[in-house]
Amino acid sequence: MKCRMTANHDNSGQPMPSREQLLLAGCARLRGQSACGATDVELLLAHVLGLTRAQLRLDPLAPVGIVAHDRFLALLARRLAGEPFAYLTGHREFWSLPIVVTPDVLVPRPDTELLVERALELCGIDNAEIVDLGTGSGAIALALANERPLWRVTAVDRSAAAIEVAKLNARKIGIEQIEWRVGNWFEPLLARRFDLIVSNPPYVRDDDVALASDGLRFEPQLALRGGPDGLDPMRILCKLAPQHLRPGGVIALEHGSDQSSQVCELLVESGFINVRSHPDLADLPRVTEAVWPG
Ligand code: GLN
Repeated sequence: MKCRMTANHDNSGQPMPSREQLLLAGCARLRGQSACGATDVELLLAHVLGLTRAQLRLDPLAPVGIVAHDRFLALLARRLAGEPFAYLTGHREFWSLPIVVTPDVLVPRPDTELLVERALELCGIDNAEIVDLGTGSGAIALALANERPLWRVTAVDRSAAAIEVAKLNARKIGIEQIEWRVGNWFEPLLARRFDLIVSNPPYVRDDDVALASDGLRFEPQLALRGGPDGLDPMRILCKLAPQHLRPGGVIALEHGSDQSSQVCELLVESGFINVRSHPDLADLPRVTEAVWPG
């Protein structure tokens, strides 16, 4: 049988759209959708074709096969429905590491790099023993372990599914020094003490309308909701941290931009000293740190 497929037709004789035509069709669907821009459309097509954006642009007239075409339109529809871009491509860069993300974990935020920065600055011990509580995709623990190969890192999450994603990330990046534990905050750590505790706990208020907005509503609520005032997990962390820090040990916590004074208070109430907050990329207080005097 004669194959009717040519450069611009599939094997049923249907014309195959070019990359450029698909991009234009994608952009036409964006009308009135502010959450998704032309860059997203281009990045999605590049992702589907396994190309970089630059490679995609090199040959705009290249035909796109039916499988890639359908996959592109399906992903675009999900993006237009508000799903985070990272869930569509399955990864997000954090601290220059490629982090696999699934809907079982929060998408790592650029602001959280501040927590990594502060932790590196605060803890000068070469072979420090540290713990990341509520690790999710493992992004923070992996960034710290990658920067400090001698640190003994433990990472905890209450979600077994999240820990599986974190372990996959560790395998892919080739980081072996992290002990992964499923459990609630300090529970799986028994009486262990650390030189550094880091956490980006859930801190969004239960009644925050942002939870229903595009993006957040696709992310695990367990990783976002922090109770009526968003501070329930923070209270547990600040109360129990002294039992898990060595004298001179430090804690660094990410929190909501309007929560720094309450987090400072919780830390002071627990006996911490040198309590300080640091601003994020939008110049809002986002990370608070403190020292346990012992
Ligand atoms: N920073 C996240 C947001 O977009 C919240 C993350 C968290 O609760 N830890 O609101």
